[in-house]
Amino acid sequence: MPLFRSLAVIGPGLIGSSVLRRGKEMGTLADTLIAADISPAVLDRVRELGFADVVTDDMALAAQADCVMICVPVGAVEATARAILPHMRPGAILTDVASVRGKLGPTIQALLPAGVDYVPGHPMAGTEHSGPDAGFATLFENRWSLLVPPEGANELAIGKIQKLWELCGARTKILPDDKHDRICAMVSHLPHLLAFTICDTADNLSEEIRAAVLDYAASGFRDFTRIAASDPVMWRDIFIANKDVLLETLDRFVADAQGMAQAIRAGDEDAITSRIERGRAIRRTLIENRQA
Ligand code: NAP
Repeated sequence: MPLFRSLAVIGPGLIGSSVLRRGKEMGTLADTLIAADISPAVLDRVRELGFADVVTDDMALAAQADCVMICVPVGAVEATARAILPHMRPGAILTDVASVRGKLGPTIQALLPAGVDYVPGHPMAGTEHSGPDAGFATLFENRWSLLVPPEGANELAIGKIQKLWELCGARTKILPDDKHDRICAMVSHLPHLLAFTICDTADNLSEEIRAAVLDYAASGFRDFTRIAASDPVMWRDIFIANKDVLLETLDRFVADAQGMAQAIRAGDEDAITSRIERGRAIRRTLIENRQA
């Protein structure tokens, strides 16, 4: 028996189309898979790719599903929820995959019609690509999905969203919003900020050095900047939505970078080595935790 009779994904880009592809391949998520978007070009492409049974720009229609998953950029999640919630049916579950929680949970919780549950979950998986072509059914395998249900959320609904991510191949963990945003600032938001900034630094070099950097980039620069190819709207929204925590994390990074600069300036070999060794230990732990 599939988990839901119908599952609607609003915004079938990288994350949304990966969920739908998984549903299509495994047949265990829902009897009917619905893809909804406001962009005619996205809808045409989703029809061509064939991973949804129903493809529509009618949000009220999509809102009739047993489970509605909002997969649009962070800055558009609340407006999308406001548009669909009045059309949702009692007994249905609303979820979203937004990368920053902020005040989203309590805000949407306060808008719920009677009988509708809200259980957001953020899959810790992704690539630097976006749009319906970018998704793939195994994106979430062996990854975490962090569930961030608002206080008082229905246990049965939490269990169903947990099951949804497990069927997608992910492990789940329930976290409070503020802890989620702190973890993601370090794991994802700061690294993206640094990647965009390193590219900016390279771009601002003299023309001659800039060209040489791009010619000979097959080393640390290339590895470090892969994620700088990510979608600008998505990352603009994430940086603004997680502003306070991200800036606090950035301040810590700047202080640590200055500590390294000081050690280099002073020729303090022990301090430099110890910082590099701590970095290597983090990498080893990541491999042990199967997150590398
Ligand atoms: P994406 O590939 O750009 O997909 C977003 C989709 O939403 C696109 O089809 C987009 O259409 C559509 N869309 C944009 N605004 C909309 C609106 N107002 N109403 C309806 N559809 C709209 O982005 P993504 O990477 O899948 O990210 C989607 C969500 O997942 C974000 O909230 C992000 O924070 C979260 N997330 C991302 C990752 C990651 O690594 N990428 C990981 C975990 C969670 P257009 O292309 O026409 O704008």
